[in-house]
Amino acid sequence: MKETKKFKTETKKLLDMMINSIYTHKEIFLRELISNASDAIDKRHYLALTDTNLSADYEILVEANKDERTITITDNGIGMTQKELEEHLGTIAKSGSKEFLEKVSKEQSPDVDIIGQFGVGFYSAFMVAEKVDVLTKAVNSDQAYLFTSMGLESYSIEDATKDDYGTIITLHLREDTEDEKYSDYLEEYELKDLIKKYSDYVRYPIKTWVTKYDPVEDSDDADDNKEKEYKEPKTHLELETVNSMLPIWKKNKSEVTDEELNNFYKTKFMDYQDPITNIFVNVEGMLTYNALLFVPKKSMYDFYSDRNERGLQLYTKGIFILDRCKELIPEYLRFVKGLVDSADLPLNISREMLQEDRAIKKIASNVEKKILAEFSRMLKNDREKYEEFFADYGVNLKYGLYEDYGAKKEQLKDLIILDSFNEEKKITFAEYKEKMPEEQKVIYYACGKNKEAVEKMPEMDLVKKKGYDVLILTDDVDEFMIHSLDKYDDLEFKSINQGDLGLIDEEEAKKIEQIKEEKKDLLEKIKNALPNVKDVVLSKRLSDSACCLTAGEGISFEMEKVLKQQHNDIKADRVLELNPNHEIFNKLEKAYNESEELGNKYANLLYNQALLMAGIIPDDPKAFSNDIVELMLK
Ligand code: ADP
Repeated sequence: MKETKKFKTETKKLLDMMINSIYTHKEIFLRELISNASDAIDKRHYLALTDTNLSADYEILVEANKDERTITITDNGIGMTQKELEEHLGTIAKSGSKEFLEKVSKEQSPDVDIIGQFGVGFYSAFMVAEKVDVLTKAVNSDQAYLFTSMGLESYSIEDATKDDYGTIITLHLREDTEDEKYSDYLEEYELKDLIKKYSDYVRYPIKTWVTKYDPVEDSDDADDNKEKEYKEPKTHLELETVNSMLPIWKKNKSEVTDEELNNFYKTKFMDYQDPITNIFVNVEGMLTYNALLFVPKKSMYDFYSDRNERGLQLYTKGIFILDRCKELIPEYLRFVKGLVDSADLPLNISREMLQEDRAIKKIASNVEKKILAEFSRMLKNDREKYEEFFADYGVNLKYGLYEDYGAKKEQLKDLIILDSFNEEKKITFAEYKEKMPEEQKVIYYACGKNKEAVEKMPEMDLVKKKGYDVLILTDDVDEFMIHSLDKYDDLEFKSINQGDLGLIDEEEAKKIEQIKEEKKDLLEKIKNALPNVKDVVLSKRLSDSACCLTAGEGISFEMEKVLKQQHNDIKADRVLELNPNHEIFNKLEKAYNESEELGNKYANLLYNQALLMAGIIPDDPKAFSNDIVELMLK
């Protein structure tokens, strides 16, 4: 019985796009169909592990027929039932195709050149074919079905006959146009090239018919003076396996070029750009495994969303077991894509078993070490590339340090680069340390948007005078990371606006102590005028500025802001620091001598200014504004 069904709207949209596509790499249709065939064989292979009746000599056959203008792709994989045909080919099953649709439908003039980036699977056939037939028989089923579609409104499914399990896809190529010569795909060399280019690592033989020359028979009349007659050499066709099959990660590292690895990455992980770097691991010994890891050029996922995307593909003995095995890679490295193939894991390993498996734990730990070692190599040998990498992924490494990862902390902390006040480019802690003058005892840091913002901070007064460098923390996570680090080597970290910076010498310190004693009452009065202030002190970090606001030893103002975003209302202690050498200090004293009310007003003005400089809105902006107006009218 023949049933005709309409494609869902979504599918239709995608098909329209394929049919009208001016995509320049239409040839990827073959890669997509071969990849489907290989997946289908994987599935059958997996079943055959427990049901030996299902095992077969797995292969994929690609044939061209010039007279019929058809290309067929035959696999002896798992096949499809009628329901599966409807569900998988009648609707968009694949997330890649969905994402593609979402992306292009948002744009006014969609850039179809990104088709390859998403890998639109089966539907890509319609870029080159006007009609596609799928003849298929699912394993353990008696009935075969024929799915036919012109890629327009509808498709039909009817009962059919087929001897073996598996699927035959026939593409009826479109007529050639001035711009597109679809008939090129019918050429033997073209098919061979495409298979080699895109599908070389497919684990099953991909066979195609190849012309071979018959051996030339020696004629006996060689001695005759007769001129040799030109004879058209005789040829015959032979089925030849075109792909090298050995998975690329099983090859010897020295035999594989970067270009091959990059191509592999792009096809397998559906990216259109080369990765920033690849890491190839071959380990033999107590534990034998291969790992192939890649860092995508642009972080494809937002750090804060897609928390579930983590994981490497897991193979055992070349057989695909699991996608996104998260036990293989720590959370903070979830941007790394790749796979692990081990000979030491059972084929029937379940997700639950993975968590407990010691081999997996060991592999994961090694994989993490290798990845960090590669980053470290990049930092050392290719600084520019590393900086680019860090701009995208640095925040992940920082979280790695912040969320405790024990043993790897040592490796990780030397991979952090931060902006600094004295340097043009980001520097490591080690580089900071190296340039420290001998008398400097701690690593200084400041939180701020950029160098300019930090430069303007009054707290920078003395540090700047001394010429000490200051690390500039720009990411929310930075300060939390510094706190969790505690020290770098033997050096403590000090925020320029918290605690004692140890910047003044003994004599100056004594002087300040003396003034403090003398002005005890004044300081007390100011403190009483400012109920939100924890303390009022004479500053040991200011030289030209009148005052500044610093945080106590606990959390900082930046942390307060970050925590507030997380609906946590913990506040940093506010300490108002006054510069006793500034004229304003005397002015303040005079005001208090005049009247307590005037003194309090001035104290509030200074405090509110200090708040503003620390990037905090005054507690009572209206009162602050009124005070300023009043002062101006005087
Ligand atoms: P994807 O392969 O990425 O899932 P496709 O649109 O290419 O997306 O294919 C949709 C589904 O159709 C596949 O997931 C698979 O279940 C099924 N399919 C496609 N080709 C074959 C095939 N040759 N044999 C068996 N099933 C297939």
